[in-house]
Amino acid sequence: MATVSPTSKRAAFESISKSAIYKSKDEFYRMYNPPELWPAEKELSVSPSKTICRRVVLLFLILMVPVGSFSQSNQRNANPNDIAERIVGAAMTRGGAISFLEALTDTVGGRVTGSPESQAAAELILKALRDAGFDNAHFEEFSMSPTWRRGPASAWVVNQVKQSPVKQSLFIGSYGWSPGTQGRVEVPLVTVTATADGKLSKNPASLSGAAVLVTIEMGASANTFAADYVVMRSRTARQLASAGAVAMLIPSEKPDRMLYTSGAGIYPRAPLPMLSVAKEDTLYLRRLLAKGDVHIALDVQNTFDESQAKERNVIADLPGSSPENVVLVGAHFDSWDPAQGADDNGSGVAAVLEAARVLKSLNVKTKATIRFAFFSGEEQACLGSRAYIATHKNELDHLWAAIIMDNGALRPTGFSLHGRDDLEAALKQRLSPMSPFGAANILTGGDLYSDDETFVVAGVPSLSLEVVPSDYDNRHHTIIDTFDKIDPQALDLDTAALALASYYIANADQPLGRRLSSQEVDRLLKKTGQSEYVDLDFSTAEKQH
Ligand SMILES: [Zn+2]
Repeated sequence: MATVSPTSKRAAFESISKSAIYKSKDEFYRMYNPPELWPAEKELSVSPSKTICRRVVLLFLILMVPVGSFSQSNQRNANPNDIAERIVGAAMTRGGAISFLEALTDTVGGRVTGSPESQAAAELILKALRDAGFDNAHFEEFSMSPTWRRGPASAWVVNQVKQSPVKQSLFIGSYGWSPGTQGRVEVPLVTVTATADGKLSKNPASLSGAAVLVTIEMGASANTFAADYVVMRSRTARQLASAGAVAMLIPSEKPDRMLYTSGAGIYPRAPLPMLSVAKEDTLYLRRLLAKGDVHIALDVQNTFDESQAKERNVIADLPGSSPENVVLVGAHFDSWDPAQGADDNGSGVAAVLEAARVLKSLNVKTKATIRFAFFSGEEQACLGSRAYIATHKNELDHLWAAIIMDNGALRPTGFSLHGRDDLEAALKQRLSPMSPFGAANILTGGDLYSDDETFVVAGVPSLSLEVVPSDYDNRHHTIIDTFDKIDPQALDLDTAALALASYYIANADQPLGRRLSSQEVDRLLKKTGQSEYVDLDFSTAEKQH
C-alpha cells in the first residue's frame, strides 16, 4: 500500500516536469535524488561508467581484507565496523536486489492477492531463499475470501452522441475489490462534496440511481492526511451506497491521464462500484455539467469468487545465539495489477531478499534471530501480516522489532517509529554507526503506511524505512509502476540500510523496547490520529492481546 494519499509527499518536487517520468535511468536518478537533498552522495548520480569504476574499486578494497578477518565474523560481536563495511560492500556491489526485481517483475508481473501471479511470486521468493542456503525457508499459509478479478471497465458520455456519431469515452478504472455494474447502465451524472465533518453537500435522495462524481474535502485540521483521506473515502462510499447511487467516481490525482487503484478501507467488498476517473476526464465532465445535465454509460465487469482461497507468506530465519528473540525484516510481495508492482512493493521484496542473502553469505552472527518475512495480502488490509500475528501470537513478547520497507526504491534516510517516542533513544543508540551511511535519521511520526500497521496494533516495536521525497506518489498504484523506473543504486542503498539496521538491532544485548499493552496501543493510535484508519480493518478482538 505505502502512501495512499494523493499529493502527500511531493511538495519538494512540485516543479518537476511531468514529462520527466519518461526519461532515461540516469535522468530518473537525478530526478529522484536531487543533489540538494543528497549533497554528500552526489557522485552516485554520475554516468554508469564512473559508477562501475567506483564499484570495482570498492570490490577491490573488500577483496583486500585479509581472509582471517572474515572468519572473525563467525563470532558474535566481532568488530562491528568490519562487519558493517562488508555488509554495505556486498549490498552495493553484487546487484542482487535489482536482478531479483527484474525476475519478479518480468517473469511474474502484477501480483493481485489470490491470483496465480501471487502464487508464482511466493514460489520465486522461496526458491531464491533456498538457493541462498536458507534451509528453514518455508511458506505459512492462510485463508482469504473473497478473491476478486478485474474485468473490463468502460464509460462514455451518452447525451453527446444522441444526434451525432461522436462517442466521448472516459478513462476510468476500478478500485480493488469493487463490484461491477450489472451490465451496461445509463445514468445521470451528479457531483457531491464530502466534507471533513462527515456530511454530504447534497440530499442523499438526489443521488439515488446516479453516478456520483465526488470531491473529498479534507479540512484544515487533518494532520494525518493519508489515513484521514482513506477514512473519508470509505465513509463516503458507504453513504453513497445507502443513498442508492449506482457508482462512485473518484477523480484521480495522477498526471497524464493516469488512473489510480486501491483496496484501502474497502476490503472485503466495496459497497458500490468505486471508479477512478482520470483528472483530464474529470475536468471535461465538470465543463459539461456547467452547461447542463449529463448522462453517462458505465459497463464494469468485475467478479468475486466467494470460495476460500489460500495465500502464503514466505518466512526464513538467520538464527541468533538467543533464537527465541526475533527481529523481523519484511515487505509485502502482493501488488496491484495495472502494472508490474515494481516499486510497490517489488522493491521492498528485492531489498529484504538481498539483505537476507548478504547477511547469510557473510555468515553474520547476532544475538536475536533475524527473520525475513515476505507478506501477501497487504493491499487487502494487511491480510498476510495479520495472519503472521495470529500464527505467532505466543512469540510476540520476544519480537524485538518489525522493520518494514514499503516506500519505494529511493535513497534511505532512516526509520520512522509510528509514534513510539519511548523507542527513540534506544534506536538512536543502535543506529548511530549508520550515521556516516546517511540512514540513521529517526522520525517519531505516527502515519501507518503498510504492514507496519499490523505490528503497531500488536504492540510490537515497529520501524518503517524512510526515503527521500520523490514523485513516487505519481507512479504509486498506476500503470507506470514498472521495472524501468527503479534505480538500482538506490535499491542497493535500501538493501544495505535494512541489513545494517537489522544487524545492529538484533545484535544488541537488550530488546529495542517493550511490547505495548492493548490499552497503550489504543492511546498511541489516538495520539497519532490513526484510530479510525485502523478501525476500518482491524476487529476489536485483534486489538486485544
Ligand atoms: Zn505497498
